[in-house]
Amino acid sequence: MTHPWAPVPGNSDFPVQNLPYGVFSQPGKDPRVGVAIGDAVLDLSQLDLPYRADFATASLNPFMSRGHQAWRAVRARLTELLTDPIHRPSVQPHLIPRSDITLHLPFQVADYADFYASEHHATNLGKIFRPGQPSLPPNWKHLPIGYHGRAGTVVKSGTPVVRPKGQYMVGDASAPAFGPSRRLDIEAEIGFVVGTPSAQGTSVPATAFADHVFGVVLVNDWSARDIQAWEYTPLGPFLGKSFATSVSPWVVPLDALSAARVHPHQDPAPLPYLSKGQRWGLDITMEIRLNGHLVSTPPFGSVYWTADQQLAHMTSNGASLRTGDLYASGTVSGPRRDQRGSLIELTWNGAEPLELPDGSSRSYLMDGDTVTISASARCADGTRLGFGETTGTIGPADV
Ligand code: MN
Repeated sequence: MTHPWAPVPGNSDFPVQNLPYGVFSQPGKDPRVGVAIGDAVLDLSQLDLPYRADFATASLNPFMSRGHQAWRAVRARLTELLTDPIHRPSVQPHLIPRSDITLHLPFQVADYADFYASEHHATNLGKIFRPGQPSLPPNWKHLPIGYHGRAGTVVKSGTPVVRPKGQYMVGDASAPAFGPSRRLDIEAEIGFVVGTPSAQGTSVPATAFADHVFGVVLVNDWSARDIQAWEYTPLGPFLGKSFATSVSPWVVPLDALSAARVHPHQDPAPLPYLSKGQRWGLDITMEIRLNGHLVSTPPFGSVYWTADQQLAHMTSNGASLRTGDLYASGTVSGPRRDQRGSLIELTWNGAEPLELPDGSSRSYLMDGDTVTISASARCADGTRLGFGETTGTIGPADV
């Protein structure tokens, strides 16, 4: 890898080894596809690239649908354009400062599923929701547990989150109440974006993960714990989760993360359809900030079930994949308290509130609170790459 001619500030999230895709616009111009490099975005609709027409659109879906060979070809060409100085005169005019653009939701979300893949998270939630019973359900180490979520309420980073209303039990009341959630929480997760579809009635093996998954985003699966706790038996999350899910605007290509792969130890060995090939765990360090204050650094590399296993499981019954499908890891929590990926864990359901630098404390989110999730990983040459961020501010319930 040679150095880019384009300027990249030290410790930028977006070195030339990253080249994440997003959708952006400038005042008076239609949205189109670009990649982030340093403090700029490169307008792909203006370059001599294969599949050029795919980049003059407001969505990554057309390009993502073309498959891994196309993704590889464009990535190789972009690397060449940004590192060989001979291309500088023709490419530089299409570098736009990111301070001058608006970022959009980068892809049309087809279906959305969310897993429960962190053993530390699942164990913590089991202790909180089902005290006195085994923390992990009996199926947990045999299949990656998940549920289907609501694709239509996946929003781009920065979208205000209206406090949800719903039904919940208060204290030891004998009947439920309805009103604004009093236990609004976050879930810091890693999301996987499907490019290549599959036919209904067929299964995608774990070994075909990189043929189908285009890239990775940050996800905040906002969760109303009071609504969730009352509604979730026996069918799982519903309105406690479906009101909003925020994703980062930059989709980091899977090909940028090959050096971050890890193969978690699993005991007992999963069934053969979940064991084929090498795992796609990823050594990604996440950071969660509440009103700017760092409260947790969840390690994604510690997660038990990996994204290739989730893909294989999700299609093992013949369910199809569609371009734009998003599936998220589930809350990422490590073994330490300062690695927990949700407030319910960080404050142990309010029993141990977080103290903030302004002297206030939090059990759950208050109106006006801002939560920002960021993350980073290492490239093969040791360069740090970042994922940008997903952020959201809580607004009062609609009354
Ligand atoms: Mn979740």
